[in-house]
Amino acid sequence: MTPSPAPPPLLDLRGVGRTYRSGGAPLDGLKGIDLTIHAGEMVAIVGPSGSGKSTLLNILGCLDRPTRGTYRFKGREVARLDAEALSALRREHMGFIFQRYHLLPDLTALGNVELPGLYAGQQRSARRYRARALLGRFGLADRCHDYPNQLSGGQQQRVAIARALANGGELVLADEPTGALDSRTGEELLKVLGGLNQDGHTVVIVTHDPAVAAHADRVIEMRDGEIVSDRTRVRGDGAPTPSPALTVSTERPARRAAAAMERFFSAFMVAFSAMRAQRLRSVLTTLGVVIGIAAVVVTVALGDGATEAVMRNISQLDGNSLSILPGYGRGDRKASSIKTLVEADAHALAGHPYLDSVTPEVNINTVLRHGSIAVESAVGGVGDQFFRVRGLPLIAGSLFTADAVRRLEQEAVIDQVTRDVLFPGQDPVGGILLVGNLPVRVIGVVERPVSGFGASSDALKVYLPYTTVMYRIVGDSSLRSIIVRVADDVPLDVASAEVTRILTFRHRVKDFYILSSNEFKQNAAEAGRTLSLTFGILGSIALLVGGIGVMNTTLVSVTERVREIGIRVAVGARRGDITRQFLVEAVLLSIAGGLLGAVLAHGVGLVLNTYQITDYEVVLSAKAYLVAFACAAGTGVLFGYLPARRASCLDPVVSLARD
Ligand code: ADP
Ligand code: MG
Repeated sequence: MTPSPAPPPLLDLRGVGRTYRSGGAPLDGLKGIDLTIHAGEMVAIVGPSGSGKSTLLNILGCLDRPTRGTYRFKGREVARLDAEALSALRREHMGFIFQRYHLLPDLTALGNVELPGLYAGQQRSARRYRARALLGRFGLADRCHDYPNQLSGGQQQRVAIARALANGGELVLADEPTGALDSRTGEELLKVLGGLNQDGHTVVIVTHDPAVAAHADRVIEMRDGEIVSDRTRVRGDGAPTPSPALTVSTERPARRAAAAMERFFSAFMVAFSAMRAQRLRSVLTTLGVVIGIAAVVVTVALGDGATEAVMRNISQLDGNSLSILPGYGRGDRKASSIKTLVEADAHALAGHPYLDSVTPEVNINTVLRHGSIAVESAVGGVGDQFFRVRGLPLIAGSLFTADAVRRLEQEAVIDQVTRDVLFPGQDPVGGILLVGNLPVRVIGVVERPVSGFGASSDALKVYLPYTTVMYRIVGDSSLRSIIVRVADDVPLDVASAEVTRILTFRHRVKDFYILSSNEFKQNAAEAGRTLSLTFGILGSIALLVGGIGVMNTTLVSVTERVREIGIRVAVGARRGDITRQFLVEAVLLSIAGGLLGAVLAHGVGLVLNTYQITDYEVVLSAKAYLVAFACAAGTGVLFGYLPARRASCLDPVVSLARD
């Protein structure tokens, strides 16, 4: 049998220095340390306060990196490992015990001891079984479900030892483990640590107490960042035998996906308990998101509602009509002085096969009187085909005829609203109405026309034969417009070209322009889009403010829980685990806000619709809620990422030193 080459020492430091550069002159915490520790040793590092013991221990535990020199763990150069590999090293080989226990206050004893196994990806049942066994071994079997604040100092420190062994604890690193305990409890604790060493664990204890050091085989003394003595006491019983406890980390871990799921779930639970612990703050933060999301949903719903209303109006507005107006285009200021659009033009168009119906229009505003009621109203002088062109159904009475138009009859057709205002509770048909000074007889009632975009929706509408308006009221023979309804099988642009040809021929110049209902639709759709965009921007601003709230809360939460982060990193959490934990918290806050915001928006929408505060029905579509949910989750991720990232980049040594 050939002798196998000697395994590399467990820890091997050559010329290791650590210089602190935080503010002022650089300070050497460690100056050129050479140190070798073999597996199975029990080492005490002693020295006065400030001599560099903790600095050395943190470097041994890979919580901190040397600024110079080399550190090999089991022959591997630690400086070459990235953050991920270092956390794996801590997770699988090391266990930390701190002076102030550093248990997580929100977890039970069992939960604390399970934590390293969770980060190592062990199956839940295996992890739990092992945690129970370890707690039992240190006499805490009946305290598994107690929280740290229900335990004495000695008990808490024993929980911490159990935690250090959860993944095997090949190397146990203890920084002043008895510092916060009375001497008798401290003595018991040292016996426990001695027992671990007997079982094969390598134990390194930092202490300033010589009595503690007496328990170790090897005592290293430090002063001013240097080793001043290194004494080994020979032990009678020879090399310790590795215990089964050390083989735990080789246990088959849970399937990767399942383990990741479980870590995610644990992050969820942590976030949940953090939110519960800071109820008021969480609620206030959530409120910001609630308002933001509600604003987005309501504005989307308003935009949709407005667009839908406009589109419905437009589609009722007859799919195929042309409006012929005097002037050279929309907004022509001289249009009112152009008097060339006349009755004869309407007659000329009337029989054309491309056109279904034609109506001239003359609009005026005047006062309507009935009995003691007088109101200002729009009066439309229209042809007998107007109601067909516009598609206004008759509710009562009759419409005026072509004959009536020819004979300048003093007859009126009114809409529902006018009926309700001027003839409250009466039958208007047959009633006499004064239009300006002209008495007319009401012969019929039609449904009110849908309002176009921007038209006042509650204006009264009264229709007289256009001839009556022209010759009996205005005394002018020019028309405001001619509206034609194009025959069903004729394309609008063909009809439009034909109308242009006929009228240009009659006028000798093209002193009119044509608006088609298609154009109306396009304009309306465009207006709807603009409206949605405006609403959307307003909602987004509200959401942005909510998001900043989430970011702020998460940042505060990170700052408050720096120590917790340090502990998690020390027991083997990856950067990703820490990022995820805070991201989940931010997203939870946002989604809670999103849900409440959606409920609030729904309420607002119902109120708007029930009391008809807006002109149109607010459309609370699934789309709006989908947008809300996406916005909420997006807000959480976007505004949670920065704080979460910051948390994961915290230096564990600094975090653990924080109180
Ligand atoms: P010990 O644990 O032996 O009391 P430390 O290792 O904590 O000593 O500290 C060694 C020296 O390094 C001390 O002078 C201390 O002030 C300094 N030191 C420790 N940590 C830091 C730090 N994070 N920043 C700056 N100086 C530090
Ligand atoms: Mg110290």
